[in-house]
Amino acid sequence: MFVASRELRGPTTSSSVRFRVKRGDGGTAWLEANFKLAEISAGTEQEIVGVLRDVTSQKAVEDELSSANLKLAQLATTDGLTRLANRRSFDAFLRDAYAKHTVLSVLLIDIDHFKGFNDALGHQAGDGCLQRIAEVIGSATANTGGLSARYGGEEFAVVLPGVDEERATRVAHAIRLLVRRLEIFHPRSPRKYVAISVGVAAKGDATTDEMALTRDADIALYHAKEQGRDCTVASSLLVSSRLEMPSLVPSLADLESAL
Ligand code: GH3
Ligand code: MG
Ligand code: MG
Repeated sequence: MFVASRELRGPTTSSSVRFRVKRGDGGTAWLEANFKLAEISAGTEQEIVGVLRDVTSQKAVEDELSSANLKLAQLATTDGLTRLANRRSFDAFLRDAYAKHTVLSVLLIDIDHFKGFNDALGHQAGDGCLQRIAEVIGSATANTGGLSARYGGEEFAVVLPGVDEERATRVAHAIRLLVRRLEIFHPRSPRKYVAISVGVAAKGDATTDEMALTRDADIALYHAKEQGRDCTVASSLLVSSRLEMPSLVPSLADLESAL
């Protein structure tokens, strides 16, 4: 009543409150109380009229609707198989992060020889493999301001706001090592286990927009494949590698120290 009288400023305003009550049969009911100022002549005391109605079924419909809307929103942004963010949310997240952050990195990750994995072990086993690798990739950004997404097919993407290329490369090494440690048997890979290749790119002075950043990571990924797969290539190293060709494949010691 106190709240209602504070909110009611004139005869045209009203205030309502919903609350739960226990029924006599032990069940729960939702009631809605509506308050209005009564039309009274000047000089007399203010009176508030209250109407109480049972809104239990209306509340149930509203709850169902909002949970359906929540599910719909989740479906629109999440990949059904891996539960990671989907391509659509990756695009939106990256656009936003690119506008907000001067320091920003992107990883593009592709499973090596995945067609052979499917061909040898079947599509279902392939789906299981995608899920396990997605879990590792998702853990890289859990409780951070970053985003792990399924980019499409057997490709994943990670956005790391506030992370420079050197640190992003360390994250990439760590993910790659963790995937390797899953020891998922791959009968058609020369290595006999499932591995990933990673391209890393960071926003720099020459980066025109977020699409260019993804393109840089994609080119780096292409080079990782060219260099024999199961490795990480950083975009900036590609520029210097035109002058001298350093080994872009990290040693196992590098990988261990990355964790
Ligand atoms: P590379 O090392 O060059 O990346 O070779 P790759 O065999 O991984 O690449 P390719 O593009 O030839 O094959 C990708 C395969 O990924 C083919 C496709 O059947 C498989 N794939 C894509 N999406 C899914 C999926 O949702 N489930 C399963 N099981 N397989 C998928
Ligand atoms: Mg691919
Ligand atoms: Mg592949």
